[in-house]
Amino acid sequence: MIDQLGREITYLRLSVTELCNLRCRYCMPEEGICQKSHFDMLTEEEMILAVKAAASLGITKLRITGGEPLVKKNILSICQHAAAVEDIKEVCLTTNGILLPQLAGSLKEAGVKRLNLSLDTLDPKKYTYITRIGSLEMFWAGFTAALKAGFEKIKINTVLIGGFNDNEIIALADLTRQYPVDVRFIELMPMYDSGDFDQGAFLPCTKVLEALPDAVPADPDGGVARLYHLPGAYGKIGLIRPVSANFCGTCNRIRLTADGKIKPCLHSPMEYSLKGMDFEGMREQLKKAIFSKPAWHGDLDAVHRSLSGRNMNQIGG
Ligand code: SAM
Ligand code: SF4
Repeated sequence: MIDQLGREITYLRLSVTELCNLRCRYCMPEEGICQKSHFDMLTEEEMILAVKAAASLGITKLRITGGEPLVKKNILSICQHAAAVEDIKEVCLTTNGILLPQLAGSLKEAGVKRLNLSLDTLDPKKYTYITRIGSLEMFWAGFTAALKAGFEKIKINTVLIGGFNDNEIIALADLTRQYPVDVRFIELMPMYDSGDFDQGAFLPCTKVLEALPDAVPADPDGGVARLYHLPGAYGKIGLIRPVSANFCGTCNRIRLTADGKIKPCLHSPMEYSLKGMDFEGMREQLKKAIFSKPAWHGDLDAVHRSLSGRNMNQIGG
């Protein structure tokens, strides 16, 4: 479906849970979240019905996310049923990787083609600091399992945080030389109450290019990242710049939260509920959401926080 500004909406990000086995400082509060009633969350059947309704309006790409999607008990069934929806050409999944040793092979069999894994540092102490409870060793076990499972593509997502990992840009980018993976640096976004980062933490992704003078521009792949290539690398370096150079003008995505709200924009408070609806009801809500997709997300920095009213784990990053 085409929105009011001529943007063709083809990409749905489906959050299957708000819960997580980590507590990243920029994403969710230390104490976790106040668990919503089971009855307020979408059932698996509703999620699949929503995917079908979205596909009937032109969605062809689905990303399963969260919270941490792999803590959801029925994640394999969700992936399998979503991948079987007519017109859905590609199911991808974003994960912190911790549960991949148990699940990587089954996810691939369930129809997940591509995986994004989140990794902000190569230093074990800093990993535990930023995730509050995670262990880098567990991440590497998950990463190894993902490589072995043979996904079409694996990308590493790194949130660039001034004063935390800007001194690791070269080492993180070097993963593209060591493994067949892309590494994408994402600008830190000031979500609802996600951490107390000062202005120095919000670095533009151009810092990555300053640290990598031998990076050469690579052909775009249709995604939001600007791509580069390092000599001798298997994978690409991606820069995702929602803050310093927003991509709202070409945004092709909508989001569905685990509690059933369609968000036409990550940073807008606008939400359209699908909970409890049938196929036609969901289709009408989806149309309204797409039709009302804002032109851009407004300023974002330490002072101008996202107007979303939710943290990232409650939206689906
Ligand atoms: N738990 C999974 C994971 O960490 O990959 C999936 C959900 S997580 C919300 C999705 C992505 O959003 C992660 O790559 C995470 O680093 C990113 N993210 C979360 N909060 C963010 C923020 N405030 N700014 C930029 N990226 C953020
Ligand atoms: Fe969990 Fe992912 Fe948020 Fe980290 S970024 S707290 S792993 S949902």
